Amino acid sequence: MINVSNFQIAIDGPSGAGKSTVAKIVANQLNFIYVDTGAMYRSAALYGMRRGIDLTNEALVEAFIKNVDVILKNVGGGQIVLLNGEDITNKIRTQEVSGATSVISKVNCVRQKMTALQRQYADNYNVVMEGRDIGSVVLPNAQVKIYLDASASARAERRFRELIGRGFEADFQKIKSEVEQRDIADMNREISPLRRPDGKTYIADYIDSSDMTAQEAAFAILNIVNKKLGV
Ligand code: C5P
Repeated sequence: MINVSNFQIAIDGPSGAGKSTVAKIVANQLNFIYVDTGAMYRSAALYGMRRGIDLTNEALVEAFIKNVDVILKNVGGGQIVLLNGEDITNKIRTQEVSGATSVISKVNCVRQKMTALQRQYADNYNVVMEGRDIGSVVLPNAQVKIYLDASASARAERRFRELIGRGFEADFQKIKSEVEQRDIADMNREISPLRRPDGKTYIADYIDSSDMTAQEAAFAILNIVNKKLGV
C-alpha cells in the first residue's frame, strides 16, 4: 500500500486486452478504487435496450440518459454495478449489450455524463480507471497512463473463455469478428476515439499482453507506478 492522494492510473486499450482483470489486481495491490468505465456505458445501453429505444437516435438517447443512475461499488476485490439501485453486474456482459454499448457510447450527451461521473471518482479516491479514453480525455493529467494491447485472436480467446465461464453460450469465430468490429467502431468514432499513444497529446506506456498472464501485466504496471513514485 502506498501513501498518496488523488493518484490516477489510467488504463486504455481495446476490448479483451485484459484491462479489467489487470486493473483489479493493480487496484487491490495498491488499495486504490477500481473504476470500470465500460460498465457505465454498458449500463446506459441496457437501460435503453430494455425500453426498446433506437440507440442511434441521439434525441431519444438524450431524453432518457438523465434517468440513468450508475453506481460502481468495490466489494471484496471485485465490482458491483448498480443501475438505479438494481444489481446488473452480470446482465451487462452479454454480446447484445456489448454491441449496443458501442452504439450508445458514440453519443455526446452520454460521454459527457459518464466522463463527469468518472472524474468524480478520481476527485475522491486514488483510482485505477480503465476504458478507451481515460488517459486521453477523462484524466489527461493521470500520473500513470497505460495502453494495454493484445492481438485480436488472443483477445477473442479471452472473451470466449470469460463468457463460457459465466455460463453463456459462445461461438469463437463470431466473438473474434465482433471484437474486430468493436475495435473499428471504438477507434474510428468522432468523439473520444480509442487511441494508441501518439506522442502528442497522449503518451502512454505500451504493454502488449498477448503472451502475458494478467499477473505479469499487472506486475509491469506496478513497476511503472513504483518508478513514478521513486520507490
Ligand atoms: O470495456 P468494455 O468492453 O466493457 O466497454 C464496452 C464498450 O463501452 C466499448 O466497446 C466502448 O464502445 C465503450 N467504452 C467507451 N469509453 C470508455 C469505456 C468503454 O466508449 N471509456
